[in-house]
Amino acid sequence: MDTVSNAVHYIFLAAAACFVLGLHLMNHPRTARRGNTLSAGAMAVAIGATVWLVADQDRISSTGWLVLVSGGVLGAALGLWAAREVQMTAMPQLVSLFNAVGGGAAALIAVNDLLQAEDAVLLGARVSLPGALDIVIGAVTFSGSLIAAGKLQGVVSGAPVVFPGARLLNVLLPTAFVVGTVWLVLAPDSRTALYGLVAVALLFGVTMVLPIGGADMPVVIALLNAFTGSAVAMAGFVLDETALIIAGMLVSASGGILTKLMADAMNRSIANIVIGGFGTGDTAAPVEDGAPAQVRSVSADDVAIQLAYARKVIFVPGYGLAAAQAQHELGDLAKLLTDHGIDVSYAVHPVAGRMPGHMNVLLAEANVPYTQLKEMDDVNPAFPQADVALVIGANDVTNPIARRPGNAISGMPILDVDKAKSVVVIKRSMGHGYAGIDNELYTDPRTGMFFTDAKRGLAELKTAVGEFVG
Ligand code: NDP
Repeated sequence: MDTVSNAVHYIFLAAAACFVLGLHLMNHPRTARRGNTLSAGAMAVAIGATVWLVADQDRISSTGWLVLVSGGVLGAALGLWAAREVQMTAMPQLVSLFNAVGGGAAALIAVNDLLQAEDAVLLGARVSLPGALDIVIGAVTFSGSLIAAGKLQGVVSGAPVVFPGARLLNVLLPTAFVVGTVWLVLAPDSRTALYGLVAVALLFGVTMVLPIGGADMPVVIALLNAFTGSAVAMAGFVLDETALIIAGMLVSASGGILTKLMADAMNRSIANIVIGGFGTGDTAAPVEDGAPAQVRSVSADDVAIQLAYARKVIFVPGYGLAAAQAQHELGDLAKLLTDHGIDVSYAVHPVAGRMPGHMNVLLAEANVPYTQLKEMDDVNPAFPQADVALVIGANDVTNPIARRPGNAISGMPILDVDKAKSVVVIKRSMGHGYAGIDNELYTDPRTGMFFTDAKRGLAELKTAVGEFVG
């Protein structure tokens, strides 16, 4: 190995160490930004080192350089624009598109390897199992992620799409993978095997994701993220690139763990999610003439009095806060109360919102002090001492029915909001949340329902509380 190759391999090793450290830093909101920057920086250095190696070995033509540089600039510009401009509520679809790009690129690496090599004997030695797996996993991820993003964006129907013979197809297609993979490994120069495998994998990505309800897409996206990592790792084997193998395996492992954690927090198995979901989660059922009789409706002034005279207030943010983009209004209200000497904290449920860490990211955007963010297990014992639990657009994660068997969220750990001395819920109607079931909290005599949009309601509360606390 010459000096440049040696240096590049050390750079790859250092980059891999930074990826691991970066992941570790993402454990806590305070260090997460640093972890992200470190990982992104390490990836930039690894890309730079790869370009250096390629240039040193004089491996690509001038046209190749043009493609490499323009692709790099275009990709980086699109990524930067999307990450800055896309709304927080649309992040799951963006992540899904990134998965599609990652999986597709990994599959293309193996396809290109097969098309480029002219010597069948050499090809046979190089292709082997990782190359075929790279094509299969990468292509499934590509088409599956595009459908998932389409469902979340509303371009593809969010309802489970089932057609006659779908189940049979989903059994036949994986069988075709096995046949195609064995064929490609045995006859690596067969174009029929290559194109057939790509087509079957692309089709399976579509038929796998179409029957899953839109509301289950975040878990599916985490699963597809794990697939992307595996495809990238396989591409690393194809190219004999250690950094790619390590980065891919890290993505694969963390995506897999995340999928499991999300499924556990919803008390469902991954198989249950992939085979059949609750539906779209968008089924708001507006109540005629306001609230039903057993529900107590309250005004901004009623809530403001309770808040102004409370000693301890716990905010419970949920999907509605994200949908209304009301994080800044919440942060402002909390600051007003804190300045008035009231003990304020935020109860963050692991699956509140529509993606992992959704609430943490939103609240960090509003510069909420990290010390006020409490995870479910830490905050639950504090609810009985809270004078007011103010629920903002959270529904399922507060529903006491989860403690009983026989319903869609049975066994899902919830925030013990109903144990607070008084509860106020801000939401627009008696509409359901993601799980599509009634919430018993709303008919509890201690609960007051403040029917309004979260952003407007919190702004009204801030003004009203301001008048009380002067
Ligand atoms: P839910 O989906 O249970 O409820 C959200 C509530 O927000 C709705 O009832 C809706 O009521 C209200 N809402 C919507 N828009 C607004 C608005 N503009 N202003 C005020 N309120 C609004 O949310 P939760 O956060 O409680 O629970 C998350 C659910 O998502 C759980 O069931 C979880 O399992 C699931 N999930 C979470 C994932 C994750 O990773 N976080 C992944 C997959 C699923 P209304 O229409 O009346 O206003």
